[in-house]
Amino acid sequence: MFSKKRIIVSTIASIAFAGVGVFSSQFGTTCIQEVQAGSWVNQYIANNNIKPVGIENREGTFNRWSGYRNGVGRPEGVMIHETATPNATAEAEVSYFNRKWPVLQTYVHAFVDANKIINIKNTDFLVWGAGPNANQRYIQVELCNVNTPDQFARSISNDAYYAAAKLIQYGLPFVPDKTLVTHKQATNWWHDTTHVDPDGYLAKWDYDMSQFNELVGKYYNNLKATGSVDDAVVDPAPVVPEDGSIVKREGKVTVANPGSFAVPLVAFRDDGTTADSNRGLAKGSAWYTDQQRSFDGHVYYRVSTNEWVADTYSSFVGW
Ligand SMILES: [Zn+2]
Repeated sequence: MFSKKRIIVSTIASIAFAGVGVFSSQFGTTCIQEVQAGSWVNQYIANNNIKPVGIENREGTFNRWSGYRNGVGRPEGVMIHETATPNATAEAEVSYFNRKWPVLQTYVHAFVDANKIINIKNTDFLVWGAGPNANQRYIQVELCNVNTPDQFARSISNDAYYAAAKLIQYGLPFVPDKTLVTHKQATNWWHDTTHVDPDGYLAKWDYDMSQFNELVGKYYNNLKATGSVDDAVVDPAPVVPEDGSIVKREGKVTVANPGSFAVPLVAFRDDGTTADSNRGLAKGSAWYTDQQRSFDGHVYYRVSTNEWVADTYSSFVGW
């Protein structure tokens, strides 16, 4: 436990210091704030280009074939669990529950770890994951416990992918706390069980459900748009003249700042230099942009009359 925390702290510190190096000449130190807990996992997944593995469908031994309350093939969303079993891989959990479910009276649709997503029950039918109210509504997926930050990030990417893919498979919208829920929420709503996973386990890794929802939302939108979890048609190096002249180019700019909840905006003065705006954009939000210009080695995307966000904090997708 203690050593895990130390690794996480050093990971966050390295992200923060990378930020200082890139941003300091342009913005001074004002933007460099304490790194928010929980931001490192999604950033790590993006920075290391981690991709989810595919879902392995491997029908298990659970021989009950009950529909949800709305019928067979009509789940209302996905419920996230965590196994609370150190060192048990998805493979190990699958074989354990395939043997023991009649005794344990517990079975879920899928187990996810850093390397695998194993689906062991056709998700058209309900399982016994969290008490009758939850079982009648939700697909149940268990996140396995892992030991390193890298494994955790990979397991989260796989879990988010499973959730997004299942919502899409059943034509469900992505609505946090409604179509994507936790066992803890089920306990609070219905009191069928006393379990409060996965929040405590996520917190051990400085992660939480709002961060997880960000990732699921990203995967969901991208999968719907392109069939892949990757962002659509990223323009890696838009050609923007160095002389500061304005290029009209419409698209979406999505902002992220590992050092802060907000992403700073600048205004351009008449002489082409920048002035800090006292407004910012919420981390993770996406904005329409119609103009781009270059200044001091960076491309800026216009998001309002004279408010611009730097490429350091944003990714642009052209239309
Ligand atoms: Zn649970």
